[in-house]
Amino acid sequence: MYDIIIIGAGPAGLTSALYALRANKKVLILESKSYGGQIINAKEIENYPGIKKISGIDFATNLYNQVIDLGGKILYETVNNVSKEKIVTTNKNKYEAKCIIIATGVQNRKLNINNEEKFIGKGLSYCATCDGNFYKGKTVAVVGGGNTAIEDAIYLSDIASIVYVIHRRDEFSAEKKLINELKNKKNVKFIMNSNILKLNGNDYLESIDLKDNKNTITNLKLDGLFIAIGHVPNNIMFKDIVDLDEYGYIIAKNEVCTKVDGIYVAGDARVKNLRQLTTAVSDGSIAAVEAIKRINMNN
Ligand code: NAP
Repeated sequence: MYDIIIIGAGPAGLTSALYALRANKKVLILESKSYGGQIINAKEIENYPGIKKISGIDFATNLYNQVIDLGGKILYETVNNVSKEKIVTTNKNKYEAKCIIIATGVQNRKLNINNEEKFIGKGLSYCATCDGNFYKGKTVAVVGGGNTAIEDAIYLSDIASIVYVIHRRDEFSAEKKLINELKNKKNVKFIMNSNILKLNGNDYLESIDLKDNKNTITNLKLDGLFIAIGHVPNNIMFKDIVDLDEYGYIIAKNEVCTKVDGIYVAGDARVKNLRQLTTAVSDGSIAAVEAIKRINMNN
């Protein structure tokens, strides 16, 4: 029996672990992929209070080491089910806890067009910082108009020979500072008011068909396509025990409390106005403190 099982080892989950371990609780962290969550894709973080500049991977590794140094235990298993009785079933085992913190974050939104799965790793990627280096001197495109897409395009412009930025509207939602930085890059070309219609190629992605707002279809030859169109939550497995909103985010009261006593949610997985590193670690600490209070009260 664990005091707290934390599902997800991103910034929210690891922060919960940090607080719970410092309160001497017996903690298990379950993670399906690798520690760090989405933040490992951030080339540079410049808006975390007290840290002027740090890469996403360094931030995640520091936090991970902080947790491990406190005796934190992470098992790399995929959670398949969580019951109201706080029994967590993974692909390998069953675990029981007094409290559960859901910190499963979000995953990349897909374009949902034909052949998208087929070309992953074969010319199509959701992570410029992970895969950008494969495209030295090549032609690539980034889809999206938010901070991620613009940051990805800036990053790729130093590696690839040409970077197309494809956006479905005529203006970006990214921060002005980033847009200005991108506009100063000589090898970046903008394709606005356009959607990707088709991915073409045999074994590897070779070109895409684009449709603009006048219904004109254009073929664009490229070596790599980076999709950066936002994120969707990973909460389907919790749908029978907690309430989800129409987009699949967990509804919580008092920030982190789900409708089940002793089951909390922290980070991007919940309904909230701002999904940032700062708000994820804030949730992580609040959820841990709520869980610690409940455990101590029932002892
Ligand atoms: P986002 O802000 O939600 O932007 C998603 C972009 O993808 C939008 O331009 C959207 O277009 C477009 N899009 C959505 N669905 C699409 C579809 N089916 N087809 C084509 N385009 C589609 O996502 P994000 O850029 O990943 O950022 C997520 C959060 O992380 C934001 O709060 C962001 O500020 C933050 N972030 C911060 C930093 C930083 O501080 N350094 C870095 C990265 C991300 P529309 O505008 O037309 O909807």
